[in-house]
Amino acid sequence: MKVKLSSGYEIPIENHKVRIVQRTDLVPVTRRLEAIAEAGYNTFLLRTKDLFLDMLTDSGTNAMSDNQLAAMMVSDDAYAGCASFYKLADAVKDVLRFDHTMPVHQGRAAEHLLAKVFVKPGDTVLMNYHFTTTKAHFELAGAKVLEIYTDEMMKTESTHPFKGNLDLQRFKDCIKKFGADKIPFVRMEATTNLVGGQPFSLKNLKEVKEIASANGIMLVFDGSLLSENAYFIKMREPGYSGKTIQEIIWELMQYVDLFYLSARKSTSVRGGMICTNRKEYYDRLLDWLPVYEGFSTYGGMSTKEIEAMAVGLREMTDVNVAGAGPEFIEYFVKRMVESGLPAVTPPGGLAAHLDAKRFVSHVPVSGYQAGALAAAIYIASGVRCMERGTISNDRAPDGSDVYADLELARLALPRRVYTMSHIEYVVDRLTWLYKNRQLIGGLRFVQEPKVLRFFFGRLEALDKWDIKLADAFKADFGPNY
Ligand SMILES: *Cc1c(COP(=O)(O)O)cnc(C)c1O
Repeated sequence: MKVKLSSGYEIPIENHKVRIVQRTDLVPVTRRLEAIAEAGYNTFLLRTKDLFLDMLTDSGTNAMSDNQLAAMMVSDDAYAGCASFYKLADAVKDVLRFDHTMPVHQGRAAEHLLAKVFVKPGDTVLMNYHFTTTKAHFELAGAKVLEIYTDEMMKTESTHPFKGNLDLQRFKDCIKKFGADKIPFVRMEATTNLVGGQPFSLKNLKEVKEIASANGIMLVFDGSLLSENAYFIKMREPGYSGKTIQEIIWELMQYVDLFYLSARKSTSVRGGMICTNRKEYYDRLLDWLPVYEGFSTYGGMSTKEIEAMAVGLREMTDVNVAGAGPEFIEYFVKRMVESGLPAVTPPGGLAAHLDAKRFVSHVPVSGYQAGALAAAIYIASGVRCMERGTISNDRAPDGSDVYADLELARLALPRRVYTMSHIEYVVDRLTWLYKNRQLIGGLRFVQEPKVLRFFFGRLEALDKWDIKLADAFKADFGPNY
């Protein structure tokens, strides 16, 4: 919800009250300097005891509602045929209008099954943009992943409302080039996670579906951030301001052959699922479900989470729930821009993003700009964010780095967790850091996994820039912050 103050200034406001809290401590800069070194300058490897605000991700970290928590208490723990599953299947029928629902332990498990069943070596999977786990699974199945986004997506300063759109001409060109039989499906990711949480329009999805249908290509929808994309359609797409989130979701879903999601995002729980109206797809996936996930009525999920997911699916159709993330992110980005910080615009659906190429333009790309900025943000604030840049890409077969299109530091806002004063604190420390950005240097790998290296890779700070940064911070704020 947003309210206009008597001054005319508009602010986002919580339309819920907080009844359970978790303590967090701001450890002093000297400890933060030790902690980031212990973590190999990789924010994934920090421990939460050393964090003030955890803006690493919105995945599985959102605040659940009282009704979700209550539903968990009445879950039905049966291996097969559990009542909790049928509540989820009913919620899917009502909210998404799919007849077949398959729970899986989380989003990447859905991608694993999709890869196993639909993707063959030599295939090309087309998509508006990839997600890390998506790409890993489809490539492990022997396919190439090709992103066919529009030019607008890579502009970090933009007012385009739908940077997540798929480029229709490139889609047609790819079908000509590869042949429709080598394209198992086109994947549309709602509120594209890795490129700033940017949505696609309903019009774009409809046009993608028309081309896909005409060529016998299946349309797969990654709906992990579905309610946010629907919220942006309501706010930004001509003709939709009067529609409810539920009506927009129904309209989106009519173009979808196969739907999956990570329940860790929009539905604020921990799990995932695959849904479809095509019985033959369901049956083919079902063959593999017990091998990798579990029986069809729990699919690797706890029945408690299944209960909470059924409630979460229904709740996310409330415009105030769907908008809870985007409205605070809009405020966060607005405050960053007002403070002269190189934020990605327009604001997206899961996080505020800083353009590291502009923030630390003096650091060469080989020094991992986004990774260096993420480490520096932690030192200056105790806030953990995530690198979304070259470190998030694995190396090419010849061992060279694959430089990312965008180098972003992603400050995620878990839904309903942080408040406006938290945002003001972060913006203040980022502004200080921006003034002192010349102190930030590059990083170098010292230990590097081959697949998804960003999770466990360890790096070092070149020329000990981290110590100089911490000294400058202490000189300005004293030792206690
Ligand atoms: C998080 C996410 C996934 C992967 O889901 P997990 O639950 O983390 O395995 C896939 N796609 C998108 C768009 C996501 O945001």
